[in-house]
Amino acid sequence: MKFHSVSGYNEVGKNMSVIDLGNEAIAFDMGVYLPPIVELEEKEKKFVSEQGLRKIGALPEDDKLSLDVKKKIKTICLSHAHLDHVGAIPYIGNHYNAEVAGTPYTIEVLNSLLKDRENRQNRPKLNPIRRVTPNSSFMTQGKKYEVEFLNITHSTPQASLIVVHTPKGAIVYANDFKFDNNPIIGKRPDYDRLREIGKQGVLALIVESLYADHEGKTPSEKIARGLLEDVLLTTENKGQGIVVTTFSSHIARLKSIVDCAKQLNRKILFVGRSLHKYVSAANNAKLVPFMQDINLVTFRDQLERKLKKANQNKKDWLLVCTGHQGEPGSILERMSRGGLPYRLGHSDHVVFSSKIIPTPINFENRGVVDKRLKEKGVRIFTDVHVSGHCSREDLRDLITMLNPQHIIPAHAEIGRRKALAELATEVGYAVNKDIHLMSNGDSINLN
Ligand SMILES: [Zn+2]
Repeated sequence: MKFHSVSGYNEVGKNMSVIDLGNEAIAFDMGVYLPPIVELEEKEKKFVSEQGLRKIGALPEDDKLSLDVKKKIKTICLSHAHLDHVGAIPYIGNHYNAEVAGTPYTIEVLNSLLKDRENRQNRPKLNPIRRVTPNSSFMTQGKKYEVEFLNITHSTPQASLIVVHTPKGAIVYANDFKFDNNPIIGKRPDYDRLREIGKQGVLALIVESLYADHEGKTPSEKIARGLLEDVLLTTENKGQGIVVTTFSSHIARLKSIVDCAKQLNRKILFVGRSLHKYVSAANNAKLVPFMQDINLVTFRDQLERKLKKANQNKKDWLLVCTGHQGEPGSILERMSRGGLPYRLGHSDHVVFSSKIIPTPINFENRGVVDKRLKEKGVRIFTDVHVSGHCSREDLRDLITMLNPQHIIPAHAEIGRRKALAELATEVGYAVNKDIHLMSNGDSINLN
C-alpha cells in the first residue's frame, strides 16, 4: 500500500493526496492554491485556463503521479466545499476516469463551480458524481473498499473525515476539522465512532497541521456567535447603517448574523456574487434555516435597486456582503470608494466576522479598504471570528482517539507540519519511524 502526498504539503492550498491500494487507488481532495489566482485575476481580470493555472502553481501537482497510479484512481473523495479542497475538479477532475464523491452541500458547490467553467468554456466532460449522506458509507467502483464519510465540524457545512476501510486497517483523512460541541448548524462530532474506528485499528492518519503550533483548543462556533452578539446587540448602533462581512460558505456564521439582525428588528439584505453562490448551494441541500428571513440579491440588475432602497432607510437594514479580505471588485471594496448607491458614512458600523488570511496581497487590499472606511468616519469592528481549524490539543485528542500506526502531517508548509510532528512525539511517535514529513510529490509505503 502506497501513499502519495501530491500537493498541499509545501503550502496551504491545492490539497490532493492519493492512497494506492494495489488494485485500485483513491484520491482525497483536488483543490486550488488561491494566493496566485487572486493576484493573477487582479492583474488580468479574465478567466484563466488550466495551463495558465498550472503555470502559476495553482493546481495540484498531479503530473508527478505515474500514469499507472493515475489510471488506478477510480474514486475522488472530497472532504468539504472549500476551494483549496474542491476548486481544481472543474479543471483536472475529468483527466481521471473516476467518480467524485462528496456530501450534498459539497456537491452543490461543486456543481456551481462546474457551471461557472461551462459558461466560459466548452462544456467539459463531467465525472460521475456521488452524493454521500454524512455519517454513511459506500463501496468504491472496484467494489473492493468501503469508504465512510464521518460528519465533522468545520467552517462550512457537511465537512467529513474520510475513512477508507482496508484489511490492514483504516486510512483516515482529516483535512479540515475542529472539535466543536456547539456548531450552531449541524451535528457535533461523533466521538464514540472515532474511538470505535481507533479500536478496530487505524493504519494511517493524514491530518491538517495549520494550527498545530497554537496551544490549547479552538473555541466553538458558539463563541463566534457570542462575539457577534456583543458587537451587534450592545454597541451604539441605533439609527446607523450596519454592514457585516464574512466567509460566504460559512452558513453557521451567517445564521448567527441573521439571528442578531432579527433581534435588532432590521431587514436583512445579502449582497455579492459568492454569497449568492454558497447560500443557494446550501439552500439546495436544505441547510439554510433562515432563507425566509433574508433578501438575497440574485441578479446583477437587482443590486443597485436594492442597495438604493436600503440606503434610503439605513437604520432599518442590516447588510451582509462580500469583501472581508478587501478584494477589489467585492461589494465592500466598491462601497468603500463610493461606487455603489449604499453610502457608508459617519458612525456607520462595518463588522468583519473574519480574519485576514495572511498573504501580502490580502493585507494590502484590506489596508486600502480600512483606510477609506476610516476617512468616512465609519466604525470598524474586526476579527469578530473564531477559526474552523483544530489547535494543538484538539489534534492530541484526535491522535489519542484513533491511535494510528502512522501519522502524516498535511495542509501546511514544513514549519507547521513539524509542530504537529513534535506533538506526535509527545504522544510516543517518532519522526521517520511512524511520523512522516512528506513534501509535494513524495510517496511512502504503508505497512
Ligand atoms: Zn476548509
